[in-house]
Amino acid sequence: MKILICDTLNSKVLEELQSIGHCVDISSSESKNQDLVSEINDAEIVVIRSSTQLTKEIIEKGNNIKIIARCGVGVDNIDVKYAKSKNIKVTNSPSANLTSVVELTVALIINAARKVNLSDKHLKEGKWNRKEFIGIELSGKQLGIIGFGKAGRLVSDRMKCFGMSVAFYDPYVKDWAGPEKNLELDELLSSSDVISLHVIKTEETENLISKDKLKLLKKSAILINTSRGGVVDQDYLIQMLKSKQLFGAGFDVYSEEPPKNINNFADINLITTPHIGASTNEAQLKAGLDTVENIKKILAGDSSVEI
Ligand code: NAD
Repeated sequence: MKILICDTLNSKVLEELQSIGHCVDISSSESKNQDLVSEINDAEIVVIRSSTQLTKEIIEKGNNIKIIARCGVGVDNIDVKYAKSKNIKVTNSPSANLTSVVELTVALIINAARKVNLSDKHLKEGKWNRKEFIGIELSGKQLGIIGFGKAGRLVSDRMKCFGMSVAFYDPYVKDWAGPEKNLELDELLSSSDVISLHVIKTEETENLISKDKLKLLKKSAILINTSRGGVVDQDYLIQMLKSKQLFGAGFDVYSEEPPKNINNFADINLITTPHIGASTNEAQLKAGLDTVENIKKILAGDSSVEI
């Protein structure tokens, strides 16, 4: 059985996959796109993380694919509908990255509130102008979570420890009995001090936080997006930061990855990380081992891990 490995995997995970079949690893190839087209032809299992796009055009070149395994949560880089129409089983590992992405979210919130990256840069440039770095306290403020699923709830739990109250907007969460307030989107945006996005990427969430929605934010607010690029109007948000219509922002994900011209924004309170939410040793190992388990289950006829 040929297993095509398209993105970097933990060495222990590679060992496990080798016990299932013959692995062809193109993750560090300099001509990865060409290799993908040629190697997918006779692959039976294709393993990807977030950097490989399995479009219809790529999938249709695979004449033998039985399983596409996404090592991680988001499957927006796979044409799942088309794969299923070809009777290809698609699986992912929805919980493995959670702790890591939640901890990065907390880091971005605190960093933006205290302008940590701007003051770090300032000091390393040999400057000591402390009044440029007046921050905001989180205690007593409202955190507004958009998308109250697994990640959103864990961010809520962590930020309550900082003394924040939490509200959320999620049209699919009904009859919530917890302490978090369930608000409509506009009310959440206009009343929150920190807004954190944790939605999945769908047609409905594309540009959910549009220019008009961004205009509802408090001037003193912080907006964090560690979910998926394209759910917020990133260009307008940057304009707001430049014109001091917003206190700060943190992005791990972008409408286009890598984003263009991000170095033009070095002097605004925008913390950027290169889609590293899941990039910890622990998350990668866990996602990889979950992926191996999922593949074994599907091969044994268990469809419970299929999307
Ligand atoms: P989840 O499915 O548990 O939660 C998503 C929530 O979004 C659900 O509660 C759903 O009801 C809600 N939702 C759907 N449509 C909505 C809408 N129109 N408005 C508001 N809410 C809506 O997913 P999760 O595991 O919590 O992951 C959340 C996001 O984090 C995903 O987009 C995932 O891809 C992303 N993620 C990013 C990284 C990273 O590296 N930055 C790592 C892991 C996960």
